[in-house]
Amino acid sequence: VESIAFGGSHLDRAAKLRETGAGDAQGAPDRVLPVWRGRPLLDGDALGLLPPSHPVLSETGLRVLLGRADGLLVEAADISAWVPPEADLPKDSFFDASEQRHPLLPPRMRFAELRGVMTQLSPLGAEIAATAKAILGWHASHRFCSACGQESAAVQRGWQRKCPACGTLHFPRTDPVVIMLVTRGNSVLLGRSPAWPQGMFSLLAGFMEPGETIEAAVRREVEEETGVRIGAVRYLACQPWPYPSSLMIGCAAEALSEAITLDPAELEAARWVSREEMAMVFQGTHPDIRAPRKGAIAGFLLENWLAGRLD
Ligand SMILES: [Zn+2]
Repeated sequence: VESIAFGGSHLDRAAKLRETGAGDAQGAPDRVLPVWRGRPLLDGDALGLLPPSHPVLSETGLRVLLGRADGLLVEAADISAWVPPEADLPKDSFFDASEQRHPLLPPRMRFAELRGVMTQLSPLGAEIAATAKAILGWHASHRFCSACGQESAAVQRGWQRKCPACGTLHFPRTDPVVIMLVTRGNSVLLGRSPAWPQGMFSLLAGFMEPGETIEAAVRREVEEETGVRIGAVRYLACQPWPYPSSLMIGCAAEALSEAITLDPAELEAARWVSREEMAMVFQGTHPDIRAPRKGAIAGFLLENWLAGRLD
């Protein structure tokens, strides 16, 4: 059975040590994960965890204490200021498969897009990488105090920012997104966004709004995007999704109506897909829908629905 990447590994986040400094014996890291522009360092199919004295880390920016993994205290280090050879720079595309190799590291180690390796990492490695990507991304986009506009500074080993001018504390954000397995009888509702690669369809999803319950967000999003009305909603599973800071909340939703009225600003197409068709999708034999990407919660929910494990 396929699992949910970033689905959790009981990483000990060692939150009590956030009061310590990296220089304290108690809080000093044993290993450091360099992250270049959101890409973790990889060593084969594992994370590239370096000893703190490694020269790659000599000019790093922000450090964040991630927690204790296999008895070792692990920090993330932002090395985004490093400039790789021009040929290795990422291209702007839906999924960028380029890899960046640092001259001070062996060739098997490289920086790569997390989406390409998330299913190969161990659950612990995936949780560490997702946490590092999400929180370093938050620091990069929240440099200035939203109360007074002054530049704020990281405190609590990277888990807060504090404004030196007005004293406001800022906390890392997580953005809840509902993702819905909408079913009616023997069929499930799939949609596709205009920017997606050809043949890619997925479950409907959307950001929750302030003041809204999970159930209400599911009903609103489905009705806005397709006109389909929703009855019962229940929670199934969730997935931290650090692109840049989402929490995907997977729900089962029973449709009360079938006719589809597309919102063309949100979706290019939406359709009901039967279990028989979905079996072809997973086998790779469907004429116009390709198999879901491995590791994402949409594929996990669809596979379990197809196998009858959600009832
Ligand atoms: Zn301020």
